[in-house]
Amino acid sequence: MTPNRSIREALTEASSFLAGLGVLEPQHNARLLLEHVLGLEGAAFFAAMADPFPASGMVRWQDAIRRKAAGEPAQYIMGWQEFYGRPFQVTPAVLIPRPETELLVEAVLRRGDQLWPDGAPRAADIGTGSGVIAVTLAAERPNWQLTAVDISSAALAVAAKNAAAAGTAVDFREGDLLSPLAGLEVDILVSNPPYIPAGEIAGLQPEVRDHEPRTALDGGPDGLAPYRIMMAQLQLLAAPPRLVGFELGQGQARDVADMLAATGFYDEIEIVPDLAGIERHVV
Ligand code: GLN
Repeated sequence: MTPNRSIREALTEASSFLAGLGVLEPQHNARLLLEHVLGLEGAAFFAAMADPFPASGMVRWQDAIRRKAAGEPAQYIMGWQEFYGRPFQVTPAVLIPRPETELLVEAVLRRGDQLWPDGAPRAADIGTGSGVIAVTLAAERPNWQLTAVDISSAALAVAAKNAAAAGTAVDFREGDLLSPLAGLEVDILVSNPPYIPAGEIAGLQPEVRDHEPRTALDGGPDGLAPYRIMMAQLQLLAAPPRLVGFELGQGQARDVADMLAATGFYDEIEIVPDLAGIERHVV
């Protein structure tokens, strides 16, 4: 970068550099990363735009732009993503939390309040990744007891940090889907499992395909393997959970609703669209 540039000039220079490489949303990404490097946000950031770029931030800034130019998601570079109003640490060991998943949390909270108005249900989050679902449920409903499962110990380490940072107690267990929950009483089962059909992974945006963990994306030949396995594993639990909330991909809602109905345990099955109108959750 040219010496003695202002913050504004550094931003413009990086934005056009990223745009020239075909990076998605170059201005937005450059601004996010610059706010992160400078430790300034919003009004404070704009107030500083005419100031000289601080020499102390130069190495981190160039490193951030280099990583972004290589296609890395800004959240991994910054190390965090906001979810339901709280910051969550993210590393390449975990899926970056998506805003659609906030609607799954909201749906589960609403129905959980109806079913257990004064009780303390036990909820299990399967494939917790960064822990966003389990930690948010625990933070929003301190009476609920949260268990969270992931097959990846590296993901569980991130999730445990997020639980501690939010001041929540979550019982983390390592294993495949419901297997670490054998014999447990679970009232609420919630999961945003990997649901991309294996054959479609190659066609994902490179930012997702090349940087997010494959175990967080790959749902087997038709994308529905995790749901099918969870249905079969319901018998491991002490009793079928009364409330189930799943996130899924476009075109999968009907199949997953049918699987839930076929267990014979669920009669009020609702398909909830996301804000783009895509059938995204089955509750
Ligand atoms: N439960 C985590 C989330 O919703 C991780 C999901 C996943 O890795 N498939 O973000």
